[in-house]
Amino acid sequence: MKSHYEMIVIGAGSAGYHAARVASTPNRSVALIEADEEFGGLCILRGCMPTKTMLRSAEVAQLIRECGDLGLSTGKLEINWRKIVHRKRRLVNEFADYRLESAEGLPGIEIIRGWGSFVSPTEVYVNGNKLTADHFVLSTGSRIWNPDIPGLTEVGYINSDDALELSELPRSIAIYGGGPVAIEFAQLFQRLGTKVTVVQRSSHILSSFDHTVAQSLERYLQSEGITILTESTIVRLENAPDGKKRSVITRAGREFAIDSDEIMLALGRKPAIDGLNCGKAGIDCPDGQVQVDQYLRTSNNRVFAGGDVVGGRSVGHHQLVHVATQQGEIIGHNAFHLSDLKKFSTDLIPQAVFTDPSVGIVGMTAREASFKGYNVIEASETFEDQGKALTMGQNKGLIKIVADRDNGHILGVHILGPNGSELIHEAIVAMYFNATIYDIVQIPHLHPTLSELLLEPAEHLVSLISES
Ligand SMILES: Cc1cc2nc3c(=O)[nH]c(=O)nc-3n(C[C@H](O)[C@H](O)[C@H](O)COP(=O)(O)OP(=O)(O)OC[C@H]3O[C@@H](n4cnc5c(N)ncnc54)[C@H](O)[C@@H]3O)c2cc1C
Repeated sequence: MKSHYEMIVIGAGSAGYHAARVASTPNRSVALIEADEEFGGLCILRGCMPTKTMLRSAEVAQLIRECGDLGLSTGKLEINWRKIVHRKRRLVNEFADYRLESAEGLPGIEIIRGWGSFVSPTEVYVNGNKLTADHFVLSTGSRIWNPDIPGLTEVGYINSDDALELSELPRSIAIYGGGPVAIEFAQLFQRLGTKVTVVQRSSHILSSFDHTVAQSLERYLQSEGITILTESTIVRLENAPDGKKRSVITRAGREFAIDSDEIMLALGRKPAIDGLNCGKAGIDCPDGQVQVDQYLRTSNNRVFAGGDVVGGRSVGHHQLVHVATQQGEIIGHNAFHLSDLKKFSTDLIPQAVFTDPSVGIVGMTAREASFKGYNVIEASETFEDQGKALTMGQNKGLIKIVADRDNGHILGVHILGPNGSELIHEAIVAMYFNATIYDIVQIPHLHPTLSELLLEPAEHLVSLISES
């Protein structure tokens, strides 16, 4: 270990790893500090990759249940949770090993295992050593947020980390929260045979998403047997007499209880800034988020920050791995190119929910666009009668396009459907190149494909605009 580096990165998740990767050249000296015994960060170890691995088992289980319609029959469906967890562990280990090997192979990068914290604006402390650097990167991610609900500790609960490692499936579970993590786990458990109740405060799940998309998904999940309690607040937890966990809830002024074998909290995460001594380093963290400007600089001009740990008006707070990766890449460039700084743009931040049907969104909802003063026009088409979706036996969902009536520019695309989280990429590319609905209708689309459906709302918008 040296005592001085050109750049010290604290936290080797997606943001930190990609900052180091972009900065890496043989003649550089960069330290990458990681506190976790396992290497890889949230996405690989306890986030995107394990959840999607397990969701695939749930998706195939559902396909098997529904395959009679396709003229196929199988024996009785047997669900082996231990094997599902085992497959998840095997893949996560492979991804993590690959990430560690890649990091170890980066020229000019030294990996230091330990907890990093600031001792002053120019020094960090790790494993009993004080290290200095020309630049620092704060990429410590987020931690699970636990609300202060009476009875929570006494009754006991699990979070998303625990849910990935359960020794057996609970017979019933109450999941608190209505965001992507809560909803993906709700479908995972329900399809694997657990009775799921989702309890959430807003009037529908995925409250920040397009309402039609969110409400349609809510109906599909209900049709699979998931109970969704909206506009509901948890008052307290109690131990029920039969050994179950009791959630006492208020809804529309009425108090009632639901009993379940397990309770899962999926109410969000907070930036991980505890124990970093940001104050000693002169790094502003109002609202518990590291404030950065568009160049991802903190209030200490030596320190950049990216990923789940950052927030503020310039860049927002996203908790998405592609945002963490992109911010890391920008930081890796900016720290060594102070006269040619790159900006992080919030213009194009797509998002997915990996349920089945899955959600893929990019850009603004009609409401957001109207709020920003656009002359908004929107059109949607469902997969219900779409040829390819019907051949697949998977015709749930819709595609909605939000456009600017004045010039046809696409302002947002909202997809719920078979492979919705893949289909959205055409819209992402279109919006990246500032395409209009007139461009979309000109672009050839293969037949029969799910992607063809994008043409329909685009054509509808073209005719609506030409008529007006
Ligand atoms: C269940 C779940 C599913 C998800 N699914 C998706 C998805 O499908 N798609 C998506 O885009 N996003 C998903 N996310 C979010 C995504 O995983 C995160 O946004 C992303 O991984 C954040 O990357 P990061 O680099 O900011 O933080 P992290 O990957 O958390 O990295 C931070 C690293 O810093 C280390 N660290 C912390 N403090 C210190 C310290 N003081 N010293 C040294 N090291 C330290 C930590 O050990 C960690 O390795 C999911 C999250 C969860 C919880």
